[in-house]
Amino acid sequence: MSELTFIDAEAGKFPETLPLFIGGEWVKSTATETLEVTDPATQKVLTKAPFATEAEVNAAVASARETFQSWKDVPVPTRARIMLKYQDLLKEHQDELATIISQELGKTFEDAKGDVWRGIEVVEQAANISSNLMGETVANVANKIDTYSYTHPVGVCVGITPFNFPAMIPLWMFPLAIACGNTFILKPSEQDPITPMRLIQLFEEAGAPKGVVQLLHGGRHQVDQLLTHPDTAAISFVGSVPVAKHIYSTGTGAMKRVQAMAGAKNHMVVMPDAQKQQVINNLLGAAAGAAGQRCMAISVAVLVGEAREWKQDIVEAFKKVRPGHWRDSESAYGPQISPASKQRILSAIAKGKEQGAECLLDGSDCTVAGYPDGNWVGPTVFGKVTPDMDVYKDEIFGPVLCLVEVDTLADAIKLVNDCPFGNGTSIFTSSGGAARTYQHEIEVGMVGINIPIPVPLPFFSFTGWRNSFFGDHHAYGKQAVRFYTKTQTVTARWFEDDVAATGPNMSIHL
Ligand code: NAD
Repeated sequence: MSELTFIDAEAGKFPETLPLFIGGEWVKSTATETLEVTDPATQKVLTKAPFATEAEVNAAVASARETFQSWKDVPVPTRARIMLKYQDLLKEHQDELATIISQELGKTFEDAKGDVWRGIEVVEQAANISSNLMGETVANVANKIDTYSYTHPVGVCVGITPFNFPAMIPLWMFPLAIACGNTFILKPSEQDPITPMRLIQLFEEAGAPKGVVQLLHGGRHQVDQLLTHPDTAAISFVGSVPVAKHIYSTGTGAMKRVQAMAGAKNHMVVMPDAQKQQVINNLLGAAAGAAGQRCMAISVAVLVGEAREWKQDIVEAFKKVRPGHWRDSESAYGPQISPASKQRILSAIAKGKEQGAECLLDGSDCTVAGYPDGNWVGPTVFGKVTPDMDVYKDEIFGPVLCLVEVDTLADAIKLVNDCPFGNGTSIFTSSGGAARTYQHEIEVGMVGINIPIPVPLPFFSFTGWRNSFFGDHHAYGKQAVRFYTKTQTVTARWFEDDVAATGPNMSIHL
C-alpha cells in the first residue's frame, strides 16, 4: 500500500488526504477544496476529504460507463462469487472497520461492529443474486407463442450516503447494484469517508474488476453533477428530508431513476398493558443508542392512558445512561458527529423549554472525563410535549426523547398519522387486538410489535413511507433488485417447416 492508501486503524493512521478511486486506480485529487475529518470525541484531525473536481467526476462516470459494457455480460454466478469473497473479507475485517467507524463517527465499538454486520448481511444477499434476477415465463400465451422476461442492469448507478452508518448504508447499495450487472459510483458522507474507502479497498481485494466501482468525495456540487450527468442512470440516496427532496426532484427532472431514503421522527406507542420494564429498556436503547443518530431512533414515546404514570421511571432510567469514549466499554453511546450538530441539538433543547415543554432531564451541559473537546450531549427527556412544538416537529437526531400523553389507542394512531414522517414506529402491548389495530391503521412503512427498531433483514426491504421516502422501489431486498434492473419481455414464435404461411394480419385482433 502506498502513502496514498495506507490505513492503520488501530494506530489511528490514515492518509493525509484521502485519494479517489477512479478507473480502478487510487488517485490523488487535484481539488483545492478539502474538509477535515475529525474524531468527534477529541477534534483530532484524522484526514482530509477532497471535493472532487468536475474533471474527476467526469472521469469516474466515463470509466463506469465504459466498464458497464463488459461487466453487464459477465456471468451472474461470476459476479455473485465476488460477493462471496467480499462477505468473507468483510467478516475478517469487521473489527478493523469498526475501529475506523468508532474513530471518525464516535460510535461505541459494539455498535460500530453492528454497523458493519448489518452491511455484511446485504452482501450475503448480493451473493445470492441469481434467484432474485429470475424473470417470468408463460408458455402458450397465444397459439404456439411463448412470453418470457429478463432482468437487465440499468447502467451507471450512483450512491449518495449519510454520515450515521458509514459501512451499512454504502453496503445497502453497491454490492446489490453491481451483482445485478451495473457499475457504481459511491459518494459517501464527507464527514466520515474513511470507512467507505476501506470498504472499497476490500472490494478490490475481493476481485472486483477495475472500473466496476468508483469512489468520489465531495458535497453538493459533486452530487449535482452526478445527478444531471447524461451517463448516469439511477441514483440511490440516504440522508435528510430537504436534501432527499432536492435529490429526487433534480434526479427525476434529469430523467433518472431515484430512490431517496430520508429523515424521520419515530414514535413508540406504549399501552398500559405492556410490560413496563421491557418498555423502559427498549426505549433507552432506541432513543439514546448511537447518540440518537439513527433514522430509526425512537424520538417520541406516546404514553397511552395509565402508561402516563411511568413517566418518572422512564426519566430515572435515562439518568443512568452516560455517553463516553468508544474505547470505554461502559459508554452507552458516543459523541454527536460534529460541533455544529451538537449546537443544533442544544438549540432544539433550548427551544423546547421556551415553547413550554417540561424538561424532565437536560443533557445540554454534558462532560466526559478525559475528553473535554468531545461533542457530548447527555440524554434529554421532555414531558408535556404537544404536536405544535418544534421539539416534536423537527428531526433532532440526538439523544432527546419527547413524551406525549394521550387517552386512547385511537388518539395515538391519529397523532402518528398526522406526523409527516413515516419511517418506523412501534407499539408495546400485550394485546394482540391492539397490536393488530395499530399495525393495520398506521401510515408508517416499518412497524415493530414489541420491537423498538423494526429494521427488516435484507431479504425484505427497508420501507419508509411519506416524507421519509421519495421514490418507488425501496432499499435492499427484492425491491432494490427491481430498482437496479429493467425488465425486457420477449414474445417468441418459431415456425415449423411444414406449416404454410398465412396472409398478412392487418389488425391487432386475434
Ligand atoms: P445529509 O442529508 O446532510 O447528507 C447526506 C448526503 O447528501 C451526504 O453525502 C452529503 O454530502 C450530501 N449532501 C448534503 N447536502 C447536499 C445538497 N444540498 N445537495 C446534494 N447533496 C448534499 O444527511 P446526514 O446529516 O449525513 O445524515 C443524517 C440524515 O440521514 C438524517 O436526516 C437521517 O434521518 C437520515 N437517514 C435516513 C435513513 C433512511 O434510510 N431513511 C438512514 C440513515 C440516515
